[in-house]
Amino acid sequence: MKSHMKSWVPYPEDHHFTIYNLPYGVFSTEEITPRIGIAIGDHVIHLEALRKLNGLSGYALEQTLVQDTLNDFIALGKSTTVKLREDIQSQLSDSESTLARHPECLIPMSQVNMHLPVSIGDYTDFYSSKEHATNLGMMFRDPENALLPNWLHLPVGYHGRSSSIVVSGTEIKRPSGQTKPIDGPPVFGPTKRLDFELEMAFIVGKGNTLGEPISIDEAEDHIFGMVIFNDWSARDIQKWEYVPLGPFLGKSFASSISPWVVTMEALQPFALKAPEQDPAVLPYLQSEGRKNYDLSLEVSIKPMSEAPLVVSRSNFKYMYWTMQQQLAHHTINGCNVRVGDMMASGTISGVEENSYGSLLEITWAGKNPIEFPSGSSRKFLQDGDSVAMTAYARKGEIALGFGEVNGKIIE
Ligand code: MN
Repeated sequence: MKSHMKSWVPYPEDHHFTIYNLPYGVFSTEEITPRIGIAIGDHVIHLEALRKLNGLSGYALEQTLVQDTLNDFIALGKSTTVKLREDIQSQLSDSESTLARHPECLIPMSQVNMHLPVSIGDYTDFYSSKEHATNLGMMFRDPENALLPNWLHLPVGYHGRSSSIVVSGTEIKRPSGQTKPIDGPPVFGPTKRLDFELEMAFIVGKGNTLGEPISIDEAEDHIFGMVIFNDWSARDIQKWEYVPLGPFLGKSFASSISPWVVTMEALQPFALKAPEQDPAVLPYLQSEGRKNYDLSLEVSIKPMSEAPLVVSRSNFKYMYWTMQQQLAHHTINGCNVRVGDMMASGTISGVEENSYGSLLEITWAGKNPIEFPSGSSRKFLQDGDSVAMTAYARKGEIALGFGEVNGKIIE
């Protein structure tokens, strides 16, 4: 990629949706039904309008641009989706391009509604941050043996629920469920320990046939792009129900994602080496090269009628297991994944206390409440609280962001 590109669509230097980004999403307006767009600055490029002006010729796009999910478009393959993004990149650099001559193809973000970008067939949540797994092990099991014996040998994960994944801005209803007081029988009621989990998720761009694993070397080619993922969690429900089969109702009530899918090609300038894995992993999980990404992550909580407070600053580069390893492991038994499937990283915690990716860790299970300037405090989320997460990357002139994922807790 050229490192000096300038868009004729103006935006501030620190904007998330730069010419280096160009993420895909699904938008609608009062007049336009949900369909595919690309974000640039504070505008959405209406791709179908541009195509009709012969501004996207030479592609076999069929009807994919007017679908209300990205699935069919993604299924055209990277030969098309990468080419189209590069085409838009050069049209944005050229003030004589078809797009430049037809500003009606640009719709102000203030006029659009964003939708869930993909139809998610299956969703899997991993547990790939060593710091997060260690923190939870210390809190709930044995501080001396915080990591369970399998953790350093395989990317631990569980199958989640795709039907309750919602787009940023969707209100989150506090779930009720069964919890167990320390002394006494189980009780039913609203969760008292509602939490967020700071995660990133990738979207499968190419499936595999049942019985035929995706090798670690092929894995990158099967990943379309990424979103920010807030895996809302009811800790008291989770604690009582999770033995022995793992997370269930404490997780499945909702997860929120950011609406713009940032492609792996856009993220390439921010690739770096994953942490050294010791002990060495089995051959089917071994890979070389820069497979992690340097993405700065931030979480803030905004209580009703108060200013937001940043409660965590983390980075995606802390992941011990890479996305390629997750996908290779997921399919090594022959399990087939499909276009649009979503795989979340697991909570991303850094080494420092201010880089933890959940309230459970930040408050250390409620022992150290977060204090707001107004004097109010939080151990867990209250009704009316909004949680916002952002992801941003910069390397010299090349910069991009994911926008944000936001969700407000309601009764
Ligand atoms: Mn999770």
